[in-house]
Amino acid sequence: MRIVSGMRPTGKLHIGHYFGAIKNWINLQQGNETLFFVADWHALTTSYKNISDIRENTIQMLIDWIAMGLDPAKSIFFVQSHVKYHAELSLILGMITPKSWLELNPTYKDTKYNLLKIAHLEKEYKDTLKPLIDNISNITPHKIEDIEAFKKILAEDITDTFIKLLIEGIIDKGRLIELNISKRDFYETDTFGFFGYPVLMASDILMYNADGVPVGEDQLSHVEIAREIARRFNYLYKPFFKEPKAILTETPRLLGTDNRKMSKSYNNAIMIDETEEETSSKVLKMFTDPQKLRKNDPGRPEICNVFNYHKIFSQNEYLNIEDGCKSGKLGCVECKKILAKNLNMFLAPMREKRLSISKELIENLLQEGDRKANEIASENMKQINEILGL
Ligand code: SF4
Repeated sequence: MRIVSGMRPTGKLHIGHYFGAIKNWINLQQGNETLFFVADWHALTTSYKNISDIRENTIQMLIDWIAMGLDPAKSIFFVQSHVKYHAELSLILGMITPKSWLELNPTYKDTKYNLLKIAHLEKEYKDTLKPLIDNISNITPHKIEDIEAFKKILAEDITDTFIKLLIEGIIDKGRLIELNISKRDFYETDTFGFFGYPVLMASDILMYNADGVPVGEDQLSHVEIAREIARRFNYLYKPFFKEPKAILTETPRLLGTDNRKMSKSYNNAIMIDETEEETSSKVLKMFTDPQKLRKNDPGRPEICNVFNYHKIFSQNEYLNIEDGCKSGKLGCVECKKILAKNLNMFLAPMREKRLSISKELIENLLQEGDRKANEIASENMKQINEILGL
């Protein structure tokens, strides 16, 4: 099978990337032809104002791909923007893609909503929500180890609601100013490129006539659009494209250390390249069962993020940990120390390997990968243009 998948150049990676994508990519390298690319044009669909790090992020991300276990000898690694045929195909496929398919794409709304949320979180928190949040924090007697983090989460929940109502049209856009959300910021996320990125993604996949695309659940709708576009092209002109199948990544849900989505920007991610001390310090600050206030209180591992991590990183011990937590024999500090040790053991080989990978090696790999990807893409593009009489 030919497998194609890509990742935006986010820079150094964290364990969420490993379990969410890379682990699956490593498995797929066995017995398949695999092409993995850096989706740098896709990065521009949402982060077009912040372009200074794209090149360095590309290099660092590839170092982590290899450190995590992807074998460069078994795959073609390339950069999307170095294969211009993606843009040519995207233009053509855009001609036959009904606008309604893109409007109905569920992730279009979600992504836009998240962008707005990030952009305005700080402002909302400082201006409108601070008094309210301070009040809630003051009357919450639970064990709150990090009051600032707690306030931030509260702020985010409230901001979520505002923005959701805004995007769904329940709140009139005329009230943007009232809500401390500037119109300019709102419309800056509403670009042609952002709206059309599923077409570009379809081009990335169809360019290589891929049989399969490994994706997380949140990307399923994009593969479905790619399949629909392929069907439409085949129906309108001539059967040429395969309908790529989504290969769903079965991934344990790993939240960040503060129970939010794991993200570098929240500083709640366990990074591959951080030191053991940094990892341990993040683990020791993790949120636990708020009802387990003292060491001997019985806990509820089923609702504790630390225990969720144990199920992945402490496979020989997690049943004992579950018992210890429930019976009150195990305290949270001790429990987190065990996790930090196991997590660092898991990451040690990746960290060691990372140190041995040079930027030059990555540059050379990309040069070779770009060449191979261009070879496949140019042959397919030639045939597509012939079909269209171009
Ligand atoms: S003992 Fe461990 S599993 Fe139980 S609440 Fe504390 S951190 Fe979570």
